[in-house]
Amino acid sequence: MTIERLESRRAIVGDGFEIRRALPNRHRRLIGAWCFLDHAGPADYPKGGGLVVGPHPHIGLQTFTWAIEGSILHTDSLGYRQLIHPGQVNLMTAGRGISHAEDSPADASGRFQLAQLWIALPDSERHREPAFDHYPELPMLERGGFRITVLAGTFAGERAPAAVYSPLVGLDLTAPGPARTELVLDADFEHGVMALEGSAHVGGEPLEPGALLYFGTGRDRLTVESAGPVRLLLVGGRPFGEEVLLWWNFVARTYGEMEQATRDWLEGGRFGKVEGARGAPLVAPDLAQLRMRGGN
Ligand code: MN
Repeated sequence: MTIERLESRRAIVGDGFEIRRALPNRHRRLIGAWCFLDHAGPADYPKGGGLVVGPHPHIGLQTFTWAIEGSILHTDSLGYRQLIHPGQVNLMTAGRGISHAEDSPADASGRFQLAQLWIALPDSERHREPAFDHYPELPMLERGGFRITVLAGTFAGERAPAAVYSPLVGLDLTAPGPARTELVLDADFEHGVMALEGSAHVGGEPLEPGALLYFGTGRDRLTVESAGPVRLLLVGGRPFGEEVLLWWNFVARTYGEMEQATRDWLEGGRFGKVEGARGAPLVAPDLAQLRMRGGN
């Protein structure tokens, strides 16, 4: 059974905030429908600092925000204004088009840590109306010293509330000290496990922050073991089976769609307006970069 070790890379989001990006990776672009995995923090920030990601558009995907420490304010063009707290999920379904901003509260200093993931929408769903959902409570279970939060999909009979459009799973596993369990997985799924804090052995392989272990389909058990405090993120899903094009904040199928979305963001209209964001609207990079990469 396939096992790959993928290294995340440093990337800058918004106002110069450094994060670790595990997906897309040069060696693997998707795990199921999960096509983007950013881990931000843990970081302390002064009053007036923190994460400032100005208004920007999305198409063809869902943004899935998992708050681990601190709070982040989401504002979007549908008029939603939602502060997300630790243990909660924000799910924004971009569909045919939406814009949003994400900011640390400006009036206090603090500490934050979050994971932001994107879920590619299958072709039959990617033009749907945009939507936003906030999930304040998620199912949790205890296994062998781990607290497991079911972020998306179903695990051990517990179903996460997030509305998703392809077969997938997302789990957060934390342990305050030594822990060991064997996860029962869907053998039709491929999986990835990233260490957010602390180290572990997953499927017998060592795993440290910054790396993601990929496990191919055909596996129905996965042993997870830690000698000390650890936080892991597991994502999985049925192999997506559609060729997607990922560029800037868009998931599409053709270069023409990217061009149109970029033009629509410049001209306004399609993506609406975000009120009350801390940062200025983001500017799309030059589309020529995508053309050079061989976009169709
Ligand atoms: Mn975004």
